[in-house]
Amino acid sequence: MKRLEFGAVDIHKGNLILVNPTHPLKREPADETLVSVRFGTTHILLERQAEKMLSEVIALLGCGHQIVPVSGYRTMDEQQTIYENSLHDYGKDFTQKYVAIPRCSEHQTGLAIDLAEKKEGCIDFIRPNFPYSGICQRFRKKSTQYGFIERYPAGQEHITHIAHEPWHFRYVGYPHSALMTDKGVTLEEYTEYIKQFPYHGDHLRAKYNGRDFTIFYIPLQSKQTRQIEIPDNIPFQLSGNNEDGVVVTLWED
Ligand SMILES: [Zn+2]
Repeated sequence: MKRLEFGAVDIHKGNLILVNPTHPLKREPADETLVSVRFGTTHILLERQAEKMLSEVIALLGCGHQIVPVSGYRTMDEQQTIYENSLHDYGKDFTQKYVAIPRCSEHQTGLAIDLAEKKEGCIDFIRPNFPYSGICQRFRKKSTQYGFIERYPAGQEHITHIAHEPWHFRYVGYPHSALMTDKGVTLEEYTEYIKQFPYHGDHLRAKYNGRDFTIFYIPLQSKQTRQIEIPDNIPFQLSGNNEDGVVVTLWED
């Protein structure tokens, strides 16, 4: 068996971290984990694995000339500037709907990307056009298999506290993206749902493309460390939830 040890620091990193108005970002991504998005013409950064998966979907669909990245990783200063400019240009109501307050934006994780359909004319930076048809919809469907979710769907505004944003995609990692999409739940709801599957209890089991996944949750209190054991030679992923614990995902045969 392989032994894994977790501490409070692990709560705040990983693909599943929940960042929203009640869960501010606790640690900014390290510079060396951010890379340039390989399509489009502007210089946009994303966390390395998120960028790799995004580029794979774009290449698979051959849509690098039809879809353009508009906004990826933002520093605290950049989010602050966007927020202030939006307040100044569009007012409080609009800004509260579409722009997260600094430290509470997913863009500060490096795991979120805004995309636009490429068209003549200028692209709206805050609300890019990304329709539910054509290549954009094909991207939306396919990207689920590569770890992405549409993060702010219509009808869930009371949960996400962000208006419907068809253009904003969040990397949460596979198979969580598929599970969230199949269940029709937001990251807020999924974070709660996974807590029903603790390490010492029934685990969440899922099967996708012939592969079995086992997922469980480990609550952690601050300054607490915990050790668990998982089988040897099994690929696994770890992620904090940015709230109170860590999620372990085992990729079985
Ligand atoms: Zn966005």
